[in-house]
Amino acid sequence: MRLDKTLANQGYGSRKDVKKLIKKGKVTIDGKVIRDSSFQVNPKESEIVINGQTLEYRDYIYIMMNKPKGVISATRDDHEKTVTDLLDEKYEPFSLFPAGRLDKDTVGLVLLTNDGDLSHRLLSPRHHVEKLYEAEISGRVTEDDVKAFCEGVQIDDEYVTKPAELTILESGDDSIVRIKISEGKFHQIRRMFAARGHRVEELKRLKMGSLVLDEALELGEYRELTEDEIKALQ
Ligand code: URA
Repeated sequence: MRLDKTLANQGYGSRKDVKKLIKKGKVTIDGKVIRDSSFQVNPKESEIVINGQTLEYRDYIYIMMNKPKGVISATRDDHEKTVTDLLDEKYEPFSLFPAGRLDKDTVGLVLLTNDGDLSHRLLSPRHHVEKLYEAEISGRVTEDDVKAFCEGVQIDDEYVTKPAELTILESGDDSIVRIKISEGKFHQIRRMFAARGHRVEELKRLKMGSLVLDEALELGEYRELTEDEIKALQ
């Protein structure tokens, strides 16, 4: 691939920006300064150094975000702010997308990636990937609700959910609970509680398969996954 295209694809700036860097002699390939933007390079085999920094070539990017309220789980929208709008522009060339959706008012763990296979595995109903949520629920959640979730809840005329694990952490005028589900029906948790006569006041995703939300991330913050986190997801 052309050198300028390789660098632009890896998030080092626009084609124009990287052409300037190359022309200034800031880029070496296997120790040699290359000033020709059209130079053909295999970034997986050659060592490319930009401004003294070695390029770590990546096909795939994996980011965990603590999604804030008011942001939609999409790549682009004419009216609403999206999770990809929150990312630094260096990620633009990678065409990241959210692997799965959270409602606009749900907060917590969202995985952003360009790895379509992984995304498919995480979302496909066949793989039964568990997702863990914490929620604040209106009213007293009881052991009857726990039993109903365990048996599956009828959320519309036709559909009864698969068994879900409901754990009561606090039960009072409002309740704090954790819910583990392995499906991802539209508004699933809100509809499960609505069917039991409760309203979900706050909802946060804590876990998706092996991936656990890093509690050091404030709402709206994100970080790339570690090697171990990526391996555990495969
Ligand atoms: N269930 C919901 O109702 N909303 C979400 O955002 C996720 C799960």
